[in-house]
Amino acid sequence: MKVPNAMKPPVPIWTALIMILVALLSLTGCLLQPMTSQALTPAATSPSAATGSQTDPVATPGDPGQTAGTAQTKPTTAPEATAVPEPTVYSGPPSDEHPVIALTFDDGPSTDLTGPLLDILLEKDVKATFFVLGNRLQSSQARGDLLRREVAEGHEIGNHTYTHQILKKADAATTRDELVRTTELIQSIAGVTPTVMRPPTGGYSDVTEAVARELGLLIVNWSWQSCPEDWNHKDDPDHIADFVIENAANGHIILLHDTNSATLAAMPRIIDGLSDKGFRFMTVSELLSYSSEGLPGPGEVVSKLK
Ligand SMILES: [Zn+2]
Repeated sequence: MKVPNAMKPPVPIWTALIMILVALLSLTGCLLQPMTSQALTPAATSPSAATGSQTDPVATPGDPGQTAGTAQTKPTTAPEATAVPEPTVYSGPPSDEHPVIALTFDDGPSTDLTGPLLDILLEKDVKATFFVLGNRLQSSQARGDLLRREVAEGHEIGNHTYTHQILKKADAATTRDELVRTTELIQSIAGVTPTVMRPPTGGYSDVTEAVARELGLLIVNWSWQSCPEDWNHKDDPDHIADFVIENAANGHIILLHDTNSATLAAMPRIIDGLSDKGFRFMTVSELLSYSSEGLPGPGEVVSKLK
């Protein structure tokens, strides 16, 4: 009588089981090997790992043993790719739709008021132009410090003569002396050379223009339409703010004084009000760089962007 297949000894079954186990192990090995290679490949070739590129601050440069660590650093690069977009800020040429304006402050630095004014401008990220007096700079170390701070915080420095000389009636020698002494002081204190000047009271003559041309200075007056005459409103910050906000237009140069406490009090409202109307604040030279009639040069007179 033949023994049925089902009744054969179990040895072949064990053999089969071992073969299956071996097959499984080898299959597992085959699957693992490519995964390891993939993990190693970026570490070996990654520019970040090789050079310590700033785009991957977590990578350890020159450490090929950190393969697992490199693989783990991958997620840290993800936020760069999906960074929250910043609000779009218009940076094109000015227009009535995208107006620009230059705030200017004369007669400083003032030991009492210029510092607080700079605090406001810094907080609101506004760049302005300061037409300074030479004899004020000469008078104290504190004023020199304020001039350096104006430069350090991105403001433009203009020459407003040494003694607040009325240049309209001054001869060439006096005009030259007033401007040269002030420019040399600004250079020695703050390391910058002004390219703009403002004649006290705004008055000038052919002589003023000729000397300004000789000294490389553009004559910058102001836009009377939006001038609040802050010297006539020393107790009225509301008038100063309202007048500027209501009358400002694209390309205007606003005359203010950092020697007037009412002007200082009006500044937050002026900046916020103009910002709400869409104005971009810039220094006089940056504003004039947008001139459609070509950049005005030394000796020319400007009172707004054309
Ligand atoms: Zn002045």
